[in-house]
Amino acid sequence: MTVLSIVVPCYNEQEALPETCRQLLVLRSRLIAAGKIADASRVVFVDDGSRDRTWTMIEEYAASGLPVVGVKLSRNRGHQNALLAGLFAARGDAIVSVDADLQDDIDAIETMVDHYRQGCDVVYGVRSSRDTDTAFKRQTARGFYWLMERLGAQTVRDHADYRLLSRRAVEALREYGETNLYLRGIIPLLGFRSATVQYARLARVAGESKYPLRRMISLALNAVTSFSVVPLRLISAIGILVFLASLIVLAWTLWVALFTDRAIPGWASITLPIYFLGGVQLLALGVIGEYLGKLYVETKRRPRYFIERIVEGGPVRPGQAQKDQAVLSPGS
Ligand code: UDP
Ligand code: MG
Repeated sequence: MTVLSIVVPCYNEQEALPETCRQLLVLRSRLIAAGKIADASRVVFVDDGSRDRTWTMIEEYAASGLPVVGVKLSRNRGHQNALLAGLFAARGDAIVSVDADLQDDIDAIETMVDHYRQGCDVVYGVRSSRDTDTAFKRQTARGFYWLMERLGAQTVRDHADYRLLSRRAVEALREYGETNLYLRGIIPLLGFRSATVQYARLARVAGESKYPLRRMISLALNAVTSFSVVPLRLISAIGILVFLASLIVLAWTLWVALFTDRAIPGWASITLPIYFLGGVQLLALGVIGEYLGKLYVETKRRPRYFIERIVEGGPVRPGQAQKDQAVLSPGS
């Protein structure tokens, strides 16, 4: 029987956590009853250095014998690292990752497990609509996927980090040692048999987005420079064009100076190239700097995260169901 782990990275999610935990455990029970997953299946909460009650709550869930595992990172390391910590710490034959805000319809997990049981190693959750996202988020996301495709990085469109990975796929993922990890770009590189599952993107159950514009930009920059050398090549192409253009201008200037009497020293023809070339050079330096910075960070081989504590909830015993209810009912 398939042992399933559901990995949930949590950063300051105290508002969303009770509902998320309740729904995931209900789903777990349903899948167990349907004979699709084993009793040993767990929900793995990764606390990404939250400053609110998130970790205390996770500890409470585990202590009260719920089938949850809590992994506490030593400090905030960001969504991608938290996710990775969860994937690597989780046991089981199949591991699903999902956000703590339940924006991704968890009913799709059942279909993911079905695909896994039919032999898929990777099952991508793909949003069928983004109606509940803000127009800004929708547009930036669309622009981002467009850019990534143009730059030649393989991505699954409208797929966030909601997916199922088999044990084998997770072990393969371990081999990727980069510090700046962009999971959505790496998973397609693993290969193996994959499938996609459509689901509707819902509104957050509670709390607010932890992905402000600054983090979105940093994720996008990371994705582009981790997966593509196209920006570098683009700079070379611009360099060649500018060089050719300047040859033509040079020939023209010589011709005017040598064979005509129109050779009035032009201010524009001197100052314009200075600005133009200055601009091109700065741009080129910027791009090179971006990749150099990446090299710098990667060569240090810094650890991606430290696990401070792991707590484990119990095997669910008969009569546990009532107790679950008491712990998870609102206001307790
Ligand atoms: N998250 C995290 N560490 C962070 C930021 C976010 O573990 O530094 C988690 C967060 O708790 C949530 C998931 O990553 O489970 C996605 O974050 P969020 O819902 O805020 O992003 P959005 O859906 O708005 O892009
Ligand atoms: Mg969200």
